[in-house]
Amino acid sequence: MSKNVLITGSSRGIGEAIALKYAREGCQVVINCRSSEQALASVQKKVEALGARCLAVRADVGNRNDCIRLFQEIEGSFGPLDILINNAGISQIGLLQDMEFEEWDQLIASNLSSVFHCCKLAIPGMVRKQCGKIINISSVWGVCGASCEAAYSASKGGVNALTRALAKELAPSNIQVNAVACGAIDTDMNRFLSPGEREALLMEIPAGRMGRPEEAAELVFRLTEAPSYLTGQVIRLDGGWI
Ligand code: NAP
Repeated sequence: MSKNVLITGSSRGIGEAIALKYAREGCQVVINCRSSEQALASVQKKVEALGARCLAVRADVGNRNDCIRLFQEIEGSFGPLDILINNAGISQIGLLQDMEFEEWDQLIASNLSSVFHCCKLAIPGMVRKQCGKIINISSVWGVCGASCEAAYSASKGGVNALTRALAKELAPSNIQVNAVACGAIDTDMNRFLSPGEREALLMEIPAGRMGRPEEAAELVFRLTEAPSYLTGQVIRLDGGWI
């Protein structure tokens, strides 16, 4: 499998696991994050140690100009993308009424506008080749909503609706768009939980544990290998939680 794959937000967590999975499968891997240069360089080393070519680009995917630069670098080094994984995201816990206007803008930019930016820039190359795969990393909160994560839930609900609509728009061009709606996955995003909160959360999950980033990566990879008739789906990966 020698495909060009971009995984946004891949300096750690789920994005890193996805990058390593595609590297193991022999793809050219583009990794990205907004701020953590050192962490990105360390993932690049791991990808290259697996024998894969790797391009690392620091860019805020919530910012359209950064995305234009990111895609110029990709096309200059690897050519057009075959697979786009929109994974970058941030969360914020708290009451909606306490959220600053700027915090709302930043969350929507990182979680939802980023998906638009990267899709807009990836689609022309995919349409020319008449094939391509787009996977959006979403959340179960985008399906059912979470108290104290209203903005995050809204952003992921938007990603789910965008996934379903874009899949219809792109199916005639043989481009499949699906989403993985994660439950609780054991990454830095959940490090804010106290031991007691973590225990209470695990008791709510029928599987009795958090998911592993590698499990999300495995599902993402399988979706990009799935029959092309599978499109427009939001698949929950949550241990039976929701
Ligand atoms: P994480 O460990 O916090 O990693 C997030 C990654 O995204 C980092 O590499 C971060 O790098 C990058 N990032 C954030 N904003 C960015 C931006 N604007 N531009 C470029 N890169 C950006 O989180 P994770 O748990 O792996 O989450 C990955 C995805 O899964 C997110 O979309 C998240 O919403 C979703 N998800 C996670 C869970 C969970 O329980 N962990 C559950 C449901 C959904 P920098 O810090 O350097 O920007």
